[in-house]
Amino acid sequence: MHKEKLLMIPGPSPVHPRILNSVSLPTVSHVGPEHVSEMKMALENLKKVVFCEKGEPFIVAGAGTLAMEMALLNIIEKGEKFLVLSQGFFGERMVQIAQSFGLDCDFIESERGKAVLPEELEAELRKEGYKAVVSTHVDTCTGACAPVKDYAGVLKEQGIFFIVDGVCATGGIEERMDDWGIDLVLTAAQKCFGAPPGLAVIVVSERAMEKRRSMEAIPAYYSDLLNWLPIMKDPSKYFSTPCVNEIRAFYESTRIVLEEGMEKRFLRHARVARAIRAALTELGFSFFTQEPFLADTLSVVEYPEGVEDQPFRKMFSENGVVVAGGLGETAGKVFRMGHMGNLSESQVLFAIDALERTLSSLDYSFKPGTGLMTAEKILGG
Ligand code: PMP
Repeated sequence: MHKEKLLMIPGPSPVHPRILNSVSLPTVSHVGPEHVSEMKMALENLKKVVFCEKGEPFIVAGAGTLAMEMALLNIIEKGEKFLVLSQGFFGERMVQIAQSFGLDCDFIESERGKAVLPEELEAELRKEGYKAVVSTHVDTCTGACAPVKDYAGVLKEQGIFFIVDGVCATGGIEERMDDWGIDLVLTAAQKCFGAPPGLAVIVVSERAMEKRRSMEAIPAYYSDLLNWLPIMKDPSKYFSTPCVNEIRAFYESTRIVLEEGMEKRFLRHARVARAIRAALTELGFSFFTQEPFLADTLSVVEYPEGVEDQPFRKMFSENGVVVAGGLGETAGKVFRMGHMGNLSESQVLFAIDALERTLSSLDYSFKPGTGLMTAEKILGG
């Protein structure tokens, strides 16, 4: 039997029962009235989540990586140069996608655990006439959150297109497309929306849509936004069969997001992140990510002396909480703990309690209850 555990990996995040129930409702016609109405409302809600009034939202079967590919192929023409600002793994993936399609990009990378500074972006822009800049908002590998609002300020002045990979941020950390001047936010269903994985999610500004329309054929078919636009305007039309159950689940997830309210949701993510980090610090852990770049959606946690990665994660899982290991250079040295989406405060307290039980069984010396008390104080429990 599948024993339910609290999923605190950096996505998928725990799926709320309301969302789970919506997935399990009968599959309906992909051009019928139920799906048409759910798709339309999901698209409307999605625009509210990224504070975009006039742009075009897209929801397509796939995942974050497809959304990354769609973003590049629909905004950047062959021969135009663009710049990737990378905090690590997912910035590198952007470069790999560009290379796969013969797109021309430069790449600046921050030190791991930090993000590129706006001044570094400005300096880079003085060297070369970039048409677009792409940045990961939160790198899921390093836990670093980029100052996308500041980047947007720099780019808006110069009329440069700005693409944000919000896979580990959208719906949990502020992204104001219209106010800040972001041209495209790409994301996925399984992180801050808390829906099951299976969707590429994109919102495109009017200006960026104009850019796509001005481009001739692009090296894409399924990923061509112009093939999807008529379906997003009228979901009773057919291009490729949408995943109706998953879209219903995503719609439900956007309802939960908006019922909570964006400001409250951002504050909750920040508070939960603070509580988890304070508890972990109290218990002797430290963080891979540098202080000003700590993301509200996940923590990349370094082990104290005497706690080993494999036995720790195995025991933590036996105690009911699943976290992820480090990727690449941090493998074996850190664990990555997601705290995004619809994770409740009681789930956070459960996780800290399970963490203490795990540490006790590993004979790690600490004062029992101190982590839990610290988290409770911050969460007001
Ligand atoms: N970008 C970021 C920042 C991510 O965290 C991820 C997934 N962890 C992706 C892109 C790729 O998304 P997916 O795994 O859904 O393809």
